[in-house]
Amino acid sequence: MANKSCIIRLSRYRNALMRLKALNFVKVFSENLADAARVTAAQVRKDFSLFGISGNRRGGYLVEELLEQINRVLGKDKLQKFIVVGVGNIGRALLNYPGFKKNEIELVAGFDIDASKHNREAEVPIFLLEELNDFVKDNGIKFGIISVPDFAAQQILELMIQTGIRGILNFAPICLKEPEDCVIRNLNFETELENIIYFTNVTEKTEVR
Ligand code: ATP
Repeated sequence: MANKSCIIRLSRYRNALMRLKALNFVKVFSENLADAARVTAAQVRKDFSLFGISGNRRGGYLVEELLEQINRVLGKDKLQKFIVVGVGNIGRALLNYPGFKKNEIELVAGFDIDASKHNREAEVPIFLLEELNDFVKDNGIKFGIISVPDFAAQQILELMIQTGIRGILNFAPICLKEPEDCVIRNLNFETELENIIYFTNVTEKTEVR
């Protein structure tokens, strides 16, 4: 089975292919994609072969065809619906971001315990938390985003799982443990920034020496 790094590389190849497509390129070589994803050409071919994607090594790959194949692997051949629980600064920013849709990702509703956040008439409606279960079941939602404070995150995770959600991106600043049949990605902006601060400072110190 493909690991997380492999799937991240596929997304990078896909982004590069989209740019090439916009520039009207018909063919691409593994070397071009390797440059874009900062890996070797051999790695690109290895990743593709894992999914039965084959090209003509000398003649390269057809951009359009390759995009279709990668889209199928990444589940981007159809619209994937997400709901968001916690419509604070992060949740609202995500709901307002128009860029997901062109990548076949749609945030279809938000949920919050705070009544002042509710808005059924909004383009992306914000509902009561109590409505989550029915909404997820009625709309066959598989994916959710958690953007509540840390103390509420575990409870929201359990609630989401009860409703049938199986893939979760967690922005709450707490590392949620992945239950067996679910996929959870924890993304903590502060941790990411601290990481950058640390490694930038270390690099600066090494350069001074
Ligand atoms: P952010 O972390 O998005 O910047 P914020 O600082 O604006 O958020 P937080 O206190 O982190 O606000 O809360 C985020 C949102 O989560 C708020 O809209 C809050 O009402 C909501 N929230 C808090 N607890 C729960 C819960 N148990 N269920 C659903 N929503 C919740």
